[in-house]
Amino acid sequence: MSDEPIYVTQPWLPPLEEFMPYLQQIWHSRILTNRGPFYRQFEQALCDFLQVEHVALCANGTIALSTALHAAGLEGEVITSPYSFPATAHVLANSNLTPVFADIDPMTFCLDAATIEPAITPRTAAIMPVHVYGNTCDTRSIKAVADKGNLRVIYDAAHAFGVQDDAGSVLKHGDFSALSFHATKVFNTFEGGAIVCADRQTKELVDKLNNFGIADETTVVAAGLNGKMDEFKASLGLLQLKHFEQLVSRRKMIDASYREQLGDIPGITLMQRDGRQVSNFSYFPILVEPGYPLDRDSLYEKLKSRGIFSRRYFYPLISNLPMYRNLPSADPANLPVANAISNKVLCLPIYSALSDEQVEKVVGVLKCH
Ligand SMILES: *Cc1c(COP(=O)(O)O)cnc(C)c1O
Repeated sequence: MSDEPIYVTQPWLPPLEEFMPYLQQIWHSRILTNRGPFYRQFEQALCDFLQVEHVALCANGTIALSTALHAAGLEGEVITSPYSFPATAHVLANSNLTPVFADIDPMTFCLDAATIEPAITPRTAAIMPVHVYGNTCDTRSIKAVADKGNLRVIYDAAHAFGVQDDAGSVLKHGDFSALSFHATKVFNTFEGGAIVCADRQTKELVDKLNNFGIADETTVVAAGLNGKMDEFKASLGLLQLKHFEQLVSRRKMIDASYREQLGDIPGITLMQRDGRQVSNFSYFPILVEPGYPLDRDSLYEKLKSRGIFSRRYFYPLISNLPMYRNLPSADPANLPVANAISNKVLCLPIYSALSDEQVEKVVGVLKCH
C-alpha cells in the first residue's frame, strides 16, 4: 500500500496533450480575455450541460456572489446560513449588507426554511441560502417565504455544480445562483465561477457589472468591478466539462464504498442523501458523535498522523468568527443545530483519483481504535 499522503480533495486536470490545442489557439489568436471565443463557447456549453438558460462567467465564486448582490440592488439585511465558507457572509459585509444568521436543517445542513421567517424584519432585503455539499435547500419553502415577504433569493451554489432535484437543475431556483470553479471544487478551472440568472436582461446587467459597468465604447452605466473570466480558464472549463460525468461516477462509487464500510460504526453518523436527487458527490461529511471513542478533533489528528488529511468543514461556524460574533443573530442559542453540527463534522477524502486501497486505509483508521 502506498504511503503517499491522502488529501481531502485533489483537483482533477485533463491530460496536458488534450489541453494543448486550446492553448495553441489562444496563442495564435492573441485573444486573451474580454469575452473571446472560448468564453462564449464555454458559456453556451454550460447552459446546455446545466440545463439553464442564462449563464454569466466570472473570475471566481466570490465575485459571482458579490456581482449578483450588486445586480439585485439590495440595502439592509440578508438572511443567510452560518454553516458555509466565510465568503458567503464576507460578500454581504463588503456590499454594506448586514448578514442575519438563521439555523440549518439537521438532515441537509442547508438553511432551515422554518427559521427564516422569524428572522425577517422591515430591513430584510433578501435571503442567501447555501446548497451545502451538493444537497439542495428546501427551495419550495424558501420561495414561499420569499414571495410572502417580497424578498430576493440569491443561492450560494458553490457546491451545486450539476446537482438536480426532482424538477431538474437546482440552479433554476431563486433570482441568482452563484457557482465556484475553484481548484478544490468538483468542477474546476483553477479559479473561476459563474452566475446563473433568471432572465436575459439580468444576465446582460451582470455582464456589465463584471466589466466596470461598461455598456459600450463611450458609455459607463454602473460602478462595476472587474470579474471577468479569461480565455485560458474558459478553454480549460470547456475541456473539463467533457470529463465531468465520468469523474462524478467514480466519486459515486467512492461514496457508496464509504457508506457500505462506515455504516455501522457506533458513534459515526453519515449524511443521508435524498435518493430523488442527482448529486455531484462533492464531499463526504461524517458526524463524530459522543458514542465514538474519540472526539472529532482527536480523530482529525489521528488521521493526520497516518497521512490522511481530512477537513473540519465547516468549522468554525461563520457566526463565531470575530467579525460576525457580536451580531445579535450570531448568538449560539439562536443557532443550535449549526453549532452542534459544526463541532461534530469531518469531511473525509473524496476525489476521482482516490483508489480503493486509499479508501480502505481511511476506513481502517476510523474502524480501529
Ligand atoms: C468555494 C466557496 C465559495 C467561494 O468561491 P471561490 O471561487 O473560492 O471564490 C463561496 N461559497 C461556498 C459555499 C464555497 O464553498
